[in-house]
Amino acid sequence: MSVVRLGHLYPDEMNIYADRGNIAVLDARLRWRDHGLAVDALEPGDRLEPGQHDLFYLGGGQDRDQAIVARDLVATKAAGLRASVEGGAAVLCVCGGYQLAGHGYTAVDGSRMPGLGLLDLDTVAGPTRLIGDLVIEAELDGERHRVVGFENHAGRTRLGPGARPLGTVLSGHGNNDHDGGEGAVAGRVVGTYLHGPLLPKNPWLADVILAWALEHRTGSRLDLPPLDDELERAAHEVAVGRPTRR
Ligand code: GLN
Repeated sequence: MSVVRLGHLYPDEMNIYADRGNIAVLDARLRWRDHGLAVDALEPGDRLEPGQHDLFYLGGGQDRDQAIVARDLVATKAAGLRASVEGGAAVLCVCGGYQLAGHGYTAVDGSRMPGLGLLDLDTVAGPTRLIGDLVIEAELDGERHRVVGFENHAGRTRLGPGARPLGTVLSGHGNNDHDGGEGAVAGRVVGTYLHGPLLPKNPWLADVILAWALEHRTGSRLDLPPLDDELERAAHEVAVGRPTRR
């Protein structure tokens, strides 16, 4: 049995679309396999020691909260996060958190927030919000799966050569409503606009992230035995059907 150590970044400020639901899924899917999850809340002002965490989670937020978090990230956490990622820790960031994992975010009011530079991408808010159900075909670890969720963002995100999209948009807007890409991946850092929350309806994605975190913890790749995902699959199918029924 192994205990994965999760650094939950700004659980109060960055929790706009039930981001805690993602943490609950990670916890349950580990427990059902006789592993465990230890969650460390990383609040404004907290510093982080590289090597202490196997996985980081950064959720979504409104521009106002994002601005507070962006300043704190750069001041107290950016260096530790970059060193952790270099050491093989995984990162999952969603919506506002995804934007801050890039080089920066220019908000609706024109102000510029610095980013972590974990993903080679930049985001600028556009004149309209991109809202609705979102279905993508994602690729991770050489496997392709449909991933579903909800998006609600003003930001238009463009990727540089150092990151690739998490997937291609089947239905919805994605990164910028233009190039057909959604989310971004570089090594074990994954960012996406999908929330609502993301992981309950996408158990494949949850398990990819958990496998990376467990590998960081144990030093070897463990097999995650399959679970009875009947309910999760049913929720996934409802979400896939939703955009086309409108
Ligand atoms: N404030 C960001 C935007 O509007 C992110 C929103 C969110 O996290 N839902 O683009």
